[in-house]
Parts: sequence; C-alpha cells; structure tokens
Amino acid sequence: MSGPTQNATRQAPAAIASPQGGAVPAIELRGISKAFGPVQANKDISIKVMPGTIHGIIGENGAGKSTLMSILYGFYKADRGEIVINGRETAIPDSQAAIRAGIGMVFQHFKLVPNFTVVENVILGAEDGRLLRPSIAKARRELKRLAEDYEMDVDPDELVENLSVGHQQRVEILKALYRQAEILILDEPTGVLTPAEADHLFRILDTLRAEGKTILLITHKLREIMMATDTVSVMRRGEMTATVKTSETSPTELAELMVGRKVLLNVEKTKAQPGKPILEVRDLRVTDEAGVARLKGVDLEIRAGEILGIAGVAGNGQTELLEVLGGYQVAKGQIKVNGKVLDLTGRADAQSRRRDGIAHVPEDRHHHGLILDFPAWENFIFGYHGAPEYQKNALLMDNAGIVKATEGAMERFDVRPPIPSLAAKNFSGGNQQKIVLAREIERNPALLLIGQPTRGVDIGAIEFIHKRIIELRDAGAAILLVSVELDEIRSLSDRIAVMFDGEIMGFRDPATTDEKDLGLLMAGMRDPSPDAHEDLAHEDSEADDDGGEG
Ligand code: ADP
Ligand code: MG
Repeated sequence: MSGPTQNATRQAPAAIASPQGGAVPAIELRGISKAFGPVQANKDISIKVMPGTIHGIIGENGAGKSTLMSILYGFYKADRGEIVINGRETAIPDSQAAIRAGIGMVFQHFKLVPNFTVVENVILGAEDGRLLRPSIAKARRELKRLAEDYEMDVDPDELVENLSVGHQQRVEILKALYRQAEILILDEPTGVLTPAEADHLFRILDTLRAEGKTILLITHKLREIMMATDTVSVMRRGEMTATVKTSETSPTELAELMVGRKVLLNVEKTKAQPGKPILEVRDLRVTDEAGVARLKGVDLEIRAGEILGIAGVAGNGQTELLEVLGGYQVAKGQIKVNGKVLDLTGRADAQSRRRDGIAHVPEDRHHHGLILDFPAWENFIFGYHGAPEYQKNALLMDNAGIVKATEGAMERFDVRPPIPSLAAKNFSGGNQQKIVLAREIERNPALLLIGQPTRGVDIGAIEFIHKRIIELRDAGAAILLVSVELDEIRSLSDRIAVMFDGEIMGFRDPATTDEKDLGLLMAGMRDPSPDAHEDLAHEDSEADDDGGEG
C-alpha cells in the first residue's frame, strides 16, 4: 500500500495549490477504524470535507459520530486510517497537534473552568500559556474584537459560572477562533440550547462560513441538517452510509439512511382486541436542568391488550417519556394508570411504580435494568424485593426460594447458561435482556414499558423477545414500546405514535402507513392528514369522560 512513490508524495510540502482546479478538501479521512473492546465504534470511514462549507454528520445516538470527531481532534488514536488536512497527511496524536493543524472543537459537554473569567479560559492551554500575564491584555483585546465581529455579546472579564449555557458555548467558539482555527467541529451544539440560542448559533456559523472557515456540524437532528448544512454525511452503527448534497436530499431519505432498512421482521400476531384504557397521559411536559423543554404536551392513551409503539429518531423525548412513567423524572401534566393518578414528582421509586402495576424494561439495561456485579437471582427480584412471596419472615428474605424461582424463570425464558448464581455481567447482551424481561413480564403487569427491547440482542433472541411481548399483550396488558428500529415498531405495534422534538406528530396504523409517511413525521413535518388518523389517538372516549366530570 505504501510504495516509495506514495511515500514521496505524502512527504511533499503542503499541497496548497489545487490540482487541475478542483478544490482540495480541508479535511479528508481515509479508512478510519476504531474499536472499544468488542464495540466497533468506527468502521473504515472515509469522508471529504470541502473548505468554506458547513458539512453535517448525522446519525443516531451511538452511531460513532463523537468517536470520529475525537479521533480528528487527537483525543483517541484510530486503530487504522489516515487524516489529511489541506491535502497533507497529518498525524494528530493529541489536541495540541489538532490545534496546530487549525482545528478547533466545541464539545458536547463544555470544558470550561467555571470560576475563571472568559479571557482566562480562552488562554488556558494555549501555546502561550507560560506567558500568561503579559498575554492577558492582548487576549482581552483580541477577544473583544472577535466577539464584536461575530456578534457574540461576551464580556471577556465575566466569570464563566455567571454565563448562560448559550454564552458558555460562544466562549468555546471564541476559544477556537482565538487559536486561529480554520476548521471548527461542533458536536451536538444545540442539545443544550434554547431555540433562540440555537438560531443565534446558526447565524454565527453562517458568518464563519462566509469567511471561508470549514465547519463540521455533528447532530442527530434532521431539521438542523436541512437548515444549516451544504453537505451531509450519514453514520449508522459505526459506518458512513452516505454523503450527499443537502439540496439534493430530503428529511425522509436521511431518516431512512439513519435508521436503516432491514428485512421486515416477521412477527406473528392476531389483531388486537383493545379493552378499557389502562394508561392515560395528558399534557405531559418535561423541562431539563438547563431549562430546555424535552416533552411539550404529550397526550396518549393505551388500552388493555394493545401495543402502542413510539417511533422517532433517538433523542426526541422518548427517553424522557419512559423515565417519567418509570418514576424517576419530574414532569407536569397528568398520568393515570387504571384510573389512578401517578406521582410525577420524580420521587416515586421503582417499587411504588411496580405496586401500581407498571413493569419497566429500561432502554439502558446496564444502568437501570441490572446490577451487573450481582448474581442473576438477585437481579431477578430487583425492584420487587419487597414482594411478600420473597420474604421468609419479618427479618429475612427467602433466598433459597428466590433462587428456585429464578431457575424456573431462566428455563421459561431460555436464559443461557441457566445458572442463578452467575453475575449478570457474565451473560451475553441477549441473555441479560431475557433476565430483565423475565423479571418484568412474569409479574403480569397491567402496563409494560419497554425501551429498545432488542438493542444488542442477537437474531434468535429477538424473535423470542417479540413473542413474549405479544403473549403479554394477548393476556390483556397495555404495552408502551419505544424503539429506534422502525421495523420493530412496525411489526410489533397495534398503533404507532411518532415523536419529534418532544411532541407527538401523529398517530398511524401500521397496516396502512409506510416508511415514507413515518419518515416525514419523524423529521418533524406536521401531520398532513391528522383528521384521517384521528380515531387512532383514542381521544374521543376521554373527551366523554371529561365531559361527564365537568
Ligand atoms: P455518537 O456520538 O454517534 O452518539 P459515539 O461515538 O459516542 O456515538 O459512540 C459510538 C459507540 O462507541 C457506542 O456504542 C459507544 O458506547 C461506544 N464508545 C464510545 N466511546 C467509548 C469509550 N470511551 N469506551 C467504550 N466505548 C465507547
Ligand atoms: Mg456523540
């Protein structure tokens, strides 16, 4: 691969001139791969980013975007591949090298020191750090100029801890510009911003582009890609699946590229026979610590014996919805389960939610579903340890009985190996998920919340898990299914609700919708035919109830 001729070319001085008139990419990545243990975070990624453009990289959570950017910024070392900056192959072993190559990065989580001023933060770690004192006055002048040029409204002498999140982000941008970055990487920059702050950020990016800077915008939000970028690359599961001109693509196409199309999983099920309403959610609102609205008035209802699937690109409020229902997220609005109003103060623990008939298979089973160092049998009663059948007497739990119950559940759920004393971390992902499912499903809950049921699970186990979910439905449970796998949603759900930016954009019948239709709603397009699907929201029965009471 690296013959002498090639080597000679690589070591040539900077390729400033563009060969044959074609512009030289500001950044070119060639065959970048990076694994974290068994996780292949980046697989043979190649991409060209042209100077003076805003190039978006879109992909779901976990697709590998931040890893790729961390390699470009010298935080991680790629296992394989090359970085070419302005036509010259460049080793980037650390962030100092990245800065020297003209790259600046605005992180997902800011790295500013709160009790330092803006100007102190900006010169921290800069090459002239040793000459801190003499350079402060110079830095202050330079910062003032930059802040004015880009209308950033940042006072160099303000303490960072007194700044809003939006202003802290501007300091990160100023810091990069102060170091003369020509290439700016922004990783999920609007996740922490209010809509007005986000608009301001995009104006700043426009100005930077007009000056010839190159911007890499990492986001999982389709709207931002469509609005702000010239070119967009799509990542899925560690791979770069496409690079297209933004003007030549559509939100639907991007949504499909992000979530992928697989053979529709074949789930055998009969038509649902919905009974009485089990879950009733009204005007549910969640605001996060930064003051950003994550749920903006969600209304939904699920009846006994039906599965409502929530479709959507990850990060549009699905996680918050599950967290509120699970009892560990504060919310406003009202939730009733079997007619009982739930505590939304965020202080309801797992046990009290379970007493209310709610079982929960969390999206992130490693953090919320299992205690990895504990044996399978202890995990089997996690959240249910107060149940009378597990007590031996007033003081002791019936450990032998629990181990025996676990053995039975492991057999019924085909958990391998069927050893109750084995620590949860020693089971494969699919078998861990089966342990959680066995625990939650075997209690015959009135309502099952299930997030990403088959993430990290092998094909054989997927089929098994889907069957158990359908059985629970047929036994009369209401099921709320959240999955980023569109095929899973389409094949399991009796009704589909599409979430975007904290709202439900529409309800659909899986039998009559298709990927295009869902893709539009997932991209935040207002439902073009809400009336045609009105009956799917199940709101008329609730209106009757309200009318009776009022
Ligand atoms: P994205 O930014 O697209 O959400 P990331 O690049 O953060 O995705 O992650 C890609 C994959 O690599 C994920 O499966 C993630 O869990 C894994 N990963 C990322 N960083 C690390 C790390 N430092 N150690 C182990 N796994 C990691
Ligand atoms: Mg990321």
